[in-house]
Amino acid sequence: MPRTPFLTANWKMHKTVAEAQRFAAAFLPLVKDATAVEIAIAPPFTALSRMAEALAGSNVSLAAQNVNPEPQGAYTGEVSALMLAEVGCRYGIVGHSERRALYREDDALIARKALALLERGIRPIVCVGETLEQREAGATFEVIGAQLSGSLDGLPGERAPEIVIAYEPVWAIGTGRTATPEIAQEVHAFVRGRLAERFGAAAQAMRIQYGGSVKPENVDDLMARPDIDGALVGGASLDPEAFARIARFRA
Ligand code: PEP
Repeated sequence: MPRTPFLTANWKMHKTVAEAQRFAAAFLPLVKDATAVEIAIAPPFTALSRMAEALAGSNVSLAAQNVNPEPQGAYTGEVSALMLAEVGCRYGIVGHSERRALYREDDALIARKALALLERGIRPIVCVGETLEQREAGATFEVIGAQLSGSLDGLPGERAPEIVIAYEPVWAIGTGRTATPEIAQEVHAFVRGRLAERFGAAAQAMRIQYGGSVKPENVDDLMARPDIDGALVGGASLDPEAFARIARFRA
């Protein structure tokens, strides 16, 4: 089943509103004819509204980096799915390894966040990935399998095609150390197998992104693999030329 490649920029805690607008002005012309792929940018919350204006009418959509699963209430510093939908987010990242590690987010919370997004019509990008210690201990598939079943728990099967998985080995994030295309494909094939167990035939329509030091120099080889359907890009997505080259990969 053909899957539209999907490239997402995760800006993390980078770029002011003015910097985000300058990025959009430089980036959009570089990808305006990249119509065979889907592209999204996840800026910090503060830049979402102005980025929605900057991206309006373009082929680039808006994504959130996080969400609170509650609909509203006394949750100081948090942002709801309704608020993200209101400013035009089409996607939302949940379960990024930085949030799992630094903010102690567990699979049950991530599943609630993904469900909250779906209920507001926002497509979740659910991140999974093993640490170096887990890989070296031979526990990669066990870890990824457990993260998948926990983070997808309770999500309605009929919404499966809207759910994106991002496989991001923790040892490859921000380290310059990319998983080889062989390693990434091996895990992606495993993920698709688990998605098929969970969602049946719909797994063939679900995109699985790779994340971890994706750059213009390595994107083509990664995207040539059958189960790598896109990339979640941190560092290299901060530069318009680099992210445009990634979005215009040649596989
Ligand atoms: C990420 O944070 O999702 C990521 C993959 O970062 P980087 O591309 O910088 O490794």
